[in-house]
Amino acid sequence: MAPLDRPTVDRYDYICIGGGSGGVASSRRAASYGKKVALVEVSPYLGGTCVNVGCVPKKIDFAMPPMDITFRGVPEPNFDWPTFKLQRDAYIRKLNNIYEKNLDREHVEYHPGYARFVAKDAIEVIRPNGEKYIPGASLGIDSDGFFELEDQPKRVAIVGAGYIAVELAGVLNALGSETHLIIRKDNVHKHSNVTRVEGEKGKTLTVDCLLWAIGRRSNTENLGLEDIGVKTDKKGDIVVDDYQNTTTKGIYAIGDVQGKALLTPVAIAAGRRLSNRLFGPEKFKDDKLSYRNIPTVIFSHPPIGTVGLTEPEARQLYGDDVKIYKSSFRSLYFSQIDEEHKEPTVYKLVAVGEEERIVGVHMIGQGSDEALQGFAVAVKMGARKKDFDDTVAIHPTSAEGESSMLSVIAADVLGLYVELVTMR
Ligand code: FAD
Repeated sequence: MAPLDRPTVDRYDYICIGGGSGGVASSRRAASYGKKVALVEVSPYLGGTCVNVGCVPKKIDFAMPPMDITFRGVPEPNFDWPTFKLQRDAYIRKLNNIYEKNLDREHVEYHPGYARFVAKDAIEVIRPNGEKYIPGASLGIDSDGFFELEDQPKRVAIVGAGYIAVELAGVLNALGSETHLIIRKDNVHKHSNVTRVEGEKGKTLTVDCLLWAIGRRSNTENLGLEDIGVKTDKKGDIVVDDYQNTTTKGIYAIGDVQGKALLTPVAIAAGRRLSNRLFGPEKFKDDKLSYRNIPTVIFSHPPIGTVGLTEPEARQLYGDDVKIYKSSFRSLYFSQIDEEHKEPTVYKLVAVGEEERIVGVHMIGQGSDEALQGFAVAVKMGARKKDFDDTVAIHPTSAEGESSMLSVIAADVLGLYVELVTMR
């Protein structure tokens, strides 16, 4: 009988390294075409960043009812962080199980462990040793560490200006933590360059928790990529073409590791389309994801939604052919809330050319997160300003401000403040 630690060799049509949004979606799609598929995941919890330390726990924090109440200006809710964390963790463990069951149902063979290439067509899987790693624990925490916090920090400093920094700052602030956002440029703590945890010279900030949210890096160093000719860029992201092909035939990269549009639905869509192209019917032989006009939301307070070109991007491409429509008002949602807690809503349409094709939609304000998806479809389909105007609004909603962008009459009926700015 072979000794227990002797490596076993299995053969597959398709192996996915990583059981996150992209790997799970791609492996399941490939298996649905009858292929023999393996998935290797180093973390004990399937689902990757999104499920374990990203979109899901963050949205639970953002959306929990006490947060909403705080924002309405009602006195401090009776919120208990440790109880909340237990419930959030339990919910995520349920999702981890669902992910495992889904792989099983589709006959994707799940291998726990760390994968690295030993040849262009072979990987080895190093079994996990069960060690737990809390990133950045000695010099503060990162966003993964945020979801490990057992108690609510009373005073917290967040370094970074990206969406993760802004979102986590919003959550902590709404829950009553004294929250400082430190960024390098002009903003909350202006021109701060945190080089030491004690704080910048001449500026001391005493906090219980320092949270770094200055960007994420692909974990590609130890995969053995250079030995098999897979190129990475200066940041360590894997270089791919429009079809997710790497520089080595037969090896592909999707999701965050290829450094473009770091979003869960992007990883899923690219993963599924890749499997369609590789293993699906003839009609999918050129399937690929278009990275243009990807809508995205910042779950800040208030939320921000954006799709397509910004005004400067449009002006760079189209010069004077760009026309901007802007409207700002106070949502009815805040009608019964004291002045201090009322939030503004601002919408902006970026139109181009004689026919005023809409190439960008940008929204900030309560409800923008939910409203954007439909407008993203319109932008993708090439809608014109006229199509927006011709669409009857849903009243009373905030989104009607976008649909009937210039509908001052409707806004007047609501007693809202509407500003119309048209700029050439
Ligand atoms: P991941 O989900 O990171 O999965 C990669 C997996 O590979 C991991 O599970 C890792 O353990 C495993 N792995 C790595 N190396 C190996 C190896 N050698 N062997 C075996 N396994 C390995 N996106 C949104 O769309 N909306 C949001 O609101 C949003 N919020 C976010 C909030 C935070 C705080 C963060 C950090 C991210 C957020 N994102 C959000 C981004 C989103 O989580 C990622 O874009 C998405 O998870 C990418 O999926 P992926 O499959 O490419 O990578």
